[in-house]
Amino acid sequence: MFQSLTERLSGVLDKLTRRGALTEGDVVEAMREVRRALLEADVALDVVKDFTEKVKAKAVGAEVLRSVTPGQMVVKIVNDELVAMLGSDAQPIDLHAAPPVGILMVGLQGSGKTTTTAKIAYRLTNRDRKKVLMASLDTRRPAAQEQLRVLGEQTGVATLPIIAGQNPLQIARRAEDAAKLGGFDVIIYDTAGRVTVDEELMDEVRDVKAAIHPHEVLLVADSLTGQDAVNTAKAFDGHIGVTGIVLTRADGDGRGGAALSMRAVTGKPIKLIGVGEKWDALEDFHPGRIASRILG
Ligand code: GDP
Repeated sequence: MFQSLTERLSGVLDKLTRRGALTEGDVVEAMREVRRALLEADVALDVVKDFTEKVKAKAVGAEVLRSVTPGQMVVKIVNDELVAMLGSDAQPIDLHAAPPVGILMVGLQGSGKTTTTAKIAYRLTNRDRKKVLMASLDTRRPAAQEQLRVLGEQTGVATLPIIAGQNPLQIARRAEDAAKLGGFDVIIYDTAGRVTVDEELMDEVRDVKAAIHPHEVLLVADSLTGQDAVNTAKAFDGHIGVTGIVLTRADGDGRGGAALSMRAVTGKPIKLIGVGEKWDALEDFHPGRIASRILG
């Protein structure tokens, strides 16, 4: 996802690495190119400005350690700022609550919400040995509940039996009852999506959230949609309040801008990234590792 950004940045920073002494002019020039590279990667303009200002402020006049070249210092500062921009520490899904712990999945249609629901369920079941129940609250798309049932069969995760004619709230309450009765640790609620953010969708999800008090509300966003993904996340967070973000299609050839600006724009952590269509194609988001990958 970051390939072209990595190439651009290493070009800029390599130039610096070879220099003996670093002047303010060097830093300003390098930051101009870093700025261009980040904008090309589709990072939000405000985020880019803030980022380059911070690096500049730290780099100009920085005391250069004897063991490194001035250029290496700048690379280190860029790395540290990238990590900070990405959210510093990895933030896994938080299950520290009384069972059944609720995870509400929200997002636009086609973002990968249902697939991610199954991936998380698969991981919690097989890696963390949790007893997981999946429930589809999507009563708008006729096949949605059936789609989740099939995914449950494929991944070996329990799904809430389908009862025709129930509304999302009724299904959510039934899921809670079933989970308590069945001794489940976690309930993952998949919700209906829309092609665009609209009031009706937001109201519906907000009502469900108010009724079930999920411990996590995860916004699923498609990284290939770049800044749209960031705007979608902002809208959902504003209307509903999310606890974290899952960025899907990180295996695709997106330009990385969504991953880079998401945290800075929304203030919410990217918790997981989807890296393929298989059940295990889900990874924790580690800001440090991502920054190293970006810097090559
Ligand atoms: P929903 O409408 O948001 O529930 O979207 P779906 O879960 O049905 O996913 C839409 C398509 O995206 C499916 O074909 C998924 O296999 C695919 N998909 C989901 N996540 C990823 C991912 O991380 N990488 C790739 N390559 N495909 C994904």
